[in-house]
Amino acid sequence: MNAELITGELTVSGLARSFAVRLPPEQQGIFLAGDDVSWTPAWVEGAVQTSLNAVWGIMHHLGGTTHRDNPGPGDVFARLAPLELPD
Ligand SMILES: Cc1cc2nc3c(=O)[nH]c(=O)nc-3n(C[C@H](O)[C@H](O)[C@H](O)COP(=O)(O)OP(=O)(O)OC[C@H]3O[C@@H](n4cnc5c(N)ncnc54)[C@H](O)[C@@H]3O)c2cc1C
Repeated sequence: MNAELITGELTVSGLARSFAVRLPPEQQGIFLAGDDVSWTPAWVEGAVQTSLNAVWGIMHHLGGTTHRDNPGPGDVFARLAPLELPD
C-alpha cells in the first residue's frame, strides 16, 4: 500500500509509484505517464520510464501478466524501486 496516495497526499514520489501499488477501488484504473510525474522531470528518461510503468500497470489492472522470462517494471518493483530517502 502507498500511504501517500491512500491519504490523498499526491506527491511526485506517490504518483511515480502508483502504477505498482494496490489502491482503493475508487482510485484504481488511472495511470499517469510523463516526465512531470517521474523521478527525472524535464528529461525524456522520465517520460519513457513512466510510460513503460503505465503500460505494465494497465496490463496488470486488466488481469494480464508478463512472461516469466521477461518481467515488467511492476514485477520487479519491490527489488528495483528507487530508495525512499528521509525528508
Ligand atoms: C527545448 C527542449 C529541449 C529538450 N532537450 C532535452 C534533452 O536534450 N534531453 C532530454 O532528456 N530531454 C529534453 N527535453 C525534455 C523532453 O522533451 C521532455 O522530457 C519529454 O518530451 C517529455 O515527454 P512527455 O511525453 O512527458 O510530454 P510531452 O512530450 O510534452 O508530450 C505531451 C503531449 O501531450 C499533448 N497534449 C497536451 N495537452 C493535451 C490535451 N489536452 N489533449 C491531448 N493532447 C495533449 C501535447 O501536445 C504533447 O504532444 C527538452 C525539452 C525542451 C522543451
